[in-house]
Amino acid sequence: MKVAYFSMEIGLNESIPTYSGGLGILAGDHIKSAADLSIPLVAVTLLYKRGYFIQNINPFGQQEEMYPYFDPRAFMEPLPLKVTVRIEGRDVQVGVWKHNVVGMHNETGSGRVPVYFLDTDLPGNAPEDRLITQYLYGGDQHTRISQEAILGIGGYLAFKRLEPQITTYHMNEGHAVFLTLAMLKDLRGDEEQVRSRCVFTTHTPVAAGHDKFDYNLAWKVIGEYLPSNIRKLAGGDILNTTVLALNLSRAANGVSQLHGEISRQMFPGFNIAHITNGVHHLSWTGPEFRDLYDKYLPAWRQDPQQLGDISAIPDNDIVEAKRKAKKRLIRYINSLSAAGFTEEQLTICFARRAAAYKRATLIFSDLEFLFNLSHDRVQLVFAGKAHPQDQAGKELIRAVVNIGKQYEKQLRLVFVPNYNIWVAGLMTSGADVWLNTPRRPREASGTSGMKVCFNGGVNMSVLDGWWREACKDRVNGWAIGDDEDQADEAATADLYRDLEDMVTTYYANPRKWLSIMRRSISDITPQFNTHRMVLEYFRNYYR
Ligand SMILES: *Cc1c(COP(=O)(O)O)cnc(C)c1O
Repeated sequence: MKVAYFSMEIGLNESIPTYSGGLGILAGDHIKSAADLSIPLVAVTLLYKRGYFIQNINPFGQQEEMYPYFDPRAFMEPLPLKVTVRIEGRDVQVGVWKHNVVGMHNETGSGRVPVYFLDTDLPGNAPEDRLITQYLYGGDQHTRISQEAILGIGGYLAFKRLEPQITTYHMNEGHAVFLTLAMLKDLRGDEEQVRSRCVFTTHTPVAAGHDKFDYNLAWKVIGEYLPSNIRKLAGGDILNTTVLALNLSRAANGVSQLHGEISRQMFPGFNIAHITNGVHHLSWTGPEFRDLYDKYLPAWRQDPQQLGDISAIPDNDIVEAKRKAKKRLIRYINSLSAAGFTEEQLTICFARRAAAYKRATLIFSDLEFLFNLSHDRVQLVFAGKAHPQDQAGKELIRAVVNIGKQYEKQLRLVFVPNYNIWVAGLMTSGADVWLNTPRRPREASGTSGMKVCFNGGVNMSVLDGWWREACKDRVNGWAIGDDEDQADEAATADLYRDLEDMVTTYYANPRKWLSIMRRSISDITPQFNTHRMVLEYFRNYYR
């Protein structure tokens, strides 16, 4: 058995800029756990030499984007192999680079997962074709379908040469679906055969998040791969990549229980289960808690379920590890700004893509209330990128930055630029509280809050995505609202009530706070990690 994992983005570390956010980090963590557990998996993505972008915030609070050139040679090796994908009637040469992800359980024993990066930036290609793999989520529909063709078709063809033992093709999101068309061609149109080899994970309950292409465009760009019954497989009016993937997979899943339910409503007639996301514990536990777990529960590295019983760890050690991790974050904040963050204050972090449904500004709905509540007690750290074409998202960032500036006397608030894997590691280990206020049910899963639990922080979130499965209100974190979808006003009222309770608990009842920290670790981390997740994929989908 061998699994080929296809993903439009893969985030392994902050030096390889081939990810933008949650989807890519999840893919990277999936690969790392597979390597640790010696699960036979190979992965493929595109080599974006100009990546997503580096975010700068100018003095007016506006996001500025930079695209520095990424030289892959320090991180991967070029293979002496090219495959050809027909794009718009032209032969596009695709080069292949390889990077091995080595298991982290110990120095010698565990496995490795090769990750292949596809690259059209080759001298023999036409100038416009060299640009296909240049930017992540950068272009128009034409670039997008070309990228997806390189990923799916190019990846399939490369694996035929490089990894002949593949038995299962895992499409991480619909972006990879054109691999089914290359396979269909290969197997002379035998849909049953294709279906028996493919599995599919859908990642968003937001309709616009599912890639759809006009058939005229599809015929023009990848016409040579489209079967004559494509409208039967991919939707009558428009080529819906999710519908095509569902039609040509033997199994499909959403990424949390609620997201599974929503996906079944969105795509009736298909059998869609769920596997809740996780995070790679060895990557997302900061040095402070890593040392602690190594000391008291050394087997946690191989088996994060060990963290289910942390009674061996003394209270003081937990408090001390948190203090150090928080200090590391605060030192960075104070190097960026003059806000004067301190170790004593309750530190609430909010970091995610600036998309409207994530409601980054909900906490600022009633500024007077917030000023009173937080005065000399709460400090806020915000971060997140907006897609370069998303004006509303950029406006959200500007609003947060400007509130911080305008009310610097009333509120300690800093916006940390360029949220990436490194910043995320710093924030998720330093946070006392990780705030999340999405408009339910649009957060398919979310994973950043899980990282916080490994580092002794607590979540305060709307009951959406993964948190709906993990939260015991006021026992291992805080639930904003009940198990229902709330409008902004109701959510704001609940948010403020919970904030009040939280601030009071933190200052007036440190024993209770410590108990919530402990439960955040012991209730949540054993379940919400990618070792558990990958084993579920392995047992239920790959075998
Ligand atoms: C973990 C992570 C994410 C995913 O976070 P969400 O909870 O889905 O918002 C996004 N970006 C980075 C850099 C991360 O590390």
